[in-house]
Amino acid sequence: MIPATFEYHAPSNLKEAIRLLGEHNSGAKILAGGHSLLPMMKLRFAAPAHLIDLNRVPELKGIREQGGMIRIGAMTTENEIIASELLRTKCPLLPEAARQIADPQVRNCGTVGGDIAHGDPGNDHPAIALATEASFVLTGPKGERTVAADGFFLGTYSTQLQADEILTEIRVPAIGKGTGWAYCKLKRKTGDFATAAAAVQLQLDGNTCKKIVIALTNVAPTALKAKDAAALLTGKTIDDKLIEQAAQKVMSICDPAEDLRGDREYKTHMAAEMTRRAIRLALERAKGK
Ligand SMILES: Cc1cc2nc3c(=O)[nH]c(=O)nc-3n(C[C@H](O)[C@H](O)[C@H](O)COP(=O)(O)OP(=O)(O)OC[C@H]3O[C@@H](n4cnc5c(N)ncnc54)[C@H](O)[C@@H]3O)c2cc1C
Repeated sequence: MIPATFEYHAPSNLKEAIRLLGEHNSGAKILAGGHSLLPMMKLRFAAPAHLIDLNRVPELKGIREQGGMIRIGAMTTENEIIASELLRTKCPLLPEAARQIADPQVRNCGTVGGDIAHGDPGNDHPAIALATEASFVLTGPKGERTVAADGFFLGTYSTQLQADEILTEIRVPAIGKGTGWAYCKLKRKTGDFATAAAAVQLQLDGNTCKKIVIALTNVAPTALKAKDAAALLTGKTIDDKLIEQAAQKVMSICDPAEDLRGDREYKTHMAAEMTRRAIRLALERAKGK
C-alpha cells in the first residue's frame, strides 16, 4: 500500500528538530532509519501528517567514551555499532546483538535509537539495554532528562518518550574486569525477529558470580529483566544445577503472544533454552576461555 500524504521536514540540527516536533506534536513522527516506521505507514497503521527526518542532524551520530560511560548517538546505525572497536572492547554485548538483527540492508539504515524508541518487544536493543544497565537521554523543549532502560518500556509500542521528545543518546557503562556477555537468539531464518532471545552480562570475582543481569526478547509485551533468576545466581559459583533453576525462574515470568513463530509454551521453553546457553557462554567468556 501507499502511505497517507505527509509533509517532509529535514532539520539540520537538534534544536530545529525539537522545534519542529513541538510545533506539530502528536501529528508528527520522527524518521530515523525508517525500517519500522515506513512499513507501518504503508500499512496505514501510522499516518503522521509530518515526518521529521533526523538523518541530517550530526549531533545524533557517533560513539565515544566519557568517564567510564560509552555514549552512543541515537542515529548510530547497526552497522556502525558492529564496526566499533570501542564497543567491541567496552560494551561487547551491543555488537554481538547488532550482528543478529535483520539483514545487511536493514542494518545499514536501522538505528539503535529507532530500535529502542519503537517499543517493539520483538526488537533486540531493549533487552540489550536492560542487560547492560543502559540509560537513555530524552531531549525536548524543556531540555534533557536521563532515564534508566529499566522502566523505560511500558508496553508494546509504548515507552516513557513524550510526543515532544527525541531520544538523543544511549549511555552504556563500560564493562569491568572478569565480565562475560552473550546474546543468544533463536530465529526461524536469517533476517527474522526473535522467536525468543536472552541477553546475559555477568561479572566474576574468582569463581563467584559477583553480578549478573539477564534480559529477554519477545516473550512478553516488553523486553523483560529476569530479576529472580539473577538473584538466584548472584554470590554463588554457577553450575549446571543453578543454571537449570535460573531457566525455570525465567519460564515463570514469560508471557509471550502466540504467532507464526510458535505457541506460548514453545516460546516460553525457548526463552529458557536461550537463557541456559547465554549464561554458559557468558561464563566461558568471563573466565577467558
Ligand atoms: C525485514 C526486517 C527485519 C527486521 N528484523 C529485526 C530484528 O531481528 N531485530 C530488531 O531489533 N529489529 C529488526 N527490524 C527492525 C529494524 O531494526 C528497525 O530499523 C528498527 O526497529 C527501527 O529503527 P529505525 O532507525 O529504522 O527507526 P524508524 O523506523 O525510523 O522509527 C521507528 C519508530 O521510532 C521513532 N523514532 C526513531 N528514532 C527516534 C528517536 N531518536 N527519538 C524518538 N523517536 C524515534 C519513530 O518515530 C518511529 O515511531 C527489522 C526490520 C525489517 C524491515
